[in-house]
Amino acid sequence: MRDLSLLTWAEVNELDKSRCMVFAVLAPIEEHGLHLPLATDIIEGEHWSKGAMARLEEKLGTECFYLPPFPVASASVNEFFGSVHFPMSTTCDVAYAVMDSLCSMGFMNIVIIASHADPEHQIAVEKAVRKINRKHGLCAIAPMGQIFMGVSTERTQRLESFEKTHENDYHAGWVETSAMLDIDPQLVRAGYEKLPSRTITDREMISKKRQLAAMGGYGHIGEPQYATNELGKDLNESCIASVCDAAERFYFRKGYEKYQHYPLYDILPLHIGFIGIFGKVRRKKVTA
Ligand SMILES: [Zn+2]
Repeated sequence: MRDLSLLTWAEVNELDKSRCMVFAVLAPIEEHGLHLPLATDIIEGEHWSKGAMARLEEKLGTECFYLPPFPVASASVNEFFGSVHFPMSTTCDVAYAVMDSLCSMGFMNIVIIASHADPEHQIAVEKAVRKINRKHGLCAIAPMGQIFMGVSTERTQRLESFEKTHENDYHAGWVETSAMLDIDPQLVRAGYEKLPSRTITDREMISKKRQLAAMGGYGHIGEPQYATNELGKDLNESCIASVCDAAERFYFRKGYEKYQHYPLYDILPLHIGFIGIFGKVRRKKVTA
């Protein structure tokens, strides 16, 4: 796999673009509790896509490229230091511009890795993918929404049984902390094992007020204290396998549809962020 941005234009010109795949990560710089870096979602997205690219090259003999990650994403919780969020329309425009540029060069196998589970972000990216596929014919897919919803190829017994007893781990909890321990333990701050559970139900997640109350002075929603390297390995492995499966199916244009459509996209009120004033990211002075 190669970083497309390190090539010259003449080298890009020479590529057999119909046989290439190009990956682009779109994820936020955003608070991730007291124990994880702001770039957690970006780091995860890069790890999953690079893992998938290595396998795709070996299995299919295709050449994979990636762009530097785009730290552009939509979300609504801005009450913490470090979060940089964009309106849904901006996220959609950026995703569209990236894909439109690639399509205009002749790349027809684009995989957008939107490694941030917030519905606002998934919907903004899917809207851009739909628009690009209408313009250029089928050339892009963004499978993370579906992968986050559980459309997955393989999960270990250990992971499945742990998930059953530790549900609703939404943000910087055991899921993300474990994933980061596996990617680079040095990025996880000491003391995560002593953090308290901050849990809410999926219904309560709809309310920003409830989210903030759950985060308290910590910033996580879930149970980071139960994170382990082993769970992280299982989680990352499962995610890489799913990204790989989605990209391979898309490359052959066969059976990829299950990764194509994020079910929450159909909930119209979740599109309100595209409408003028409602889409404004509300920011006020951040205080400790
Ligand atoms: Zn995250």
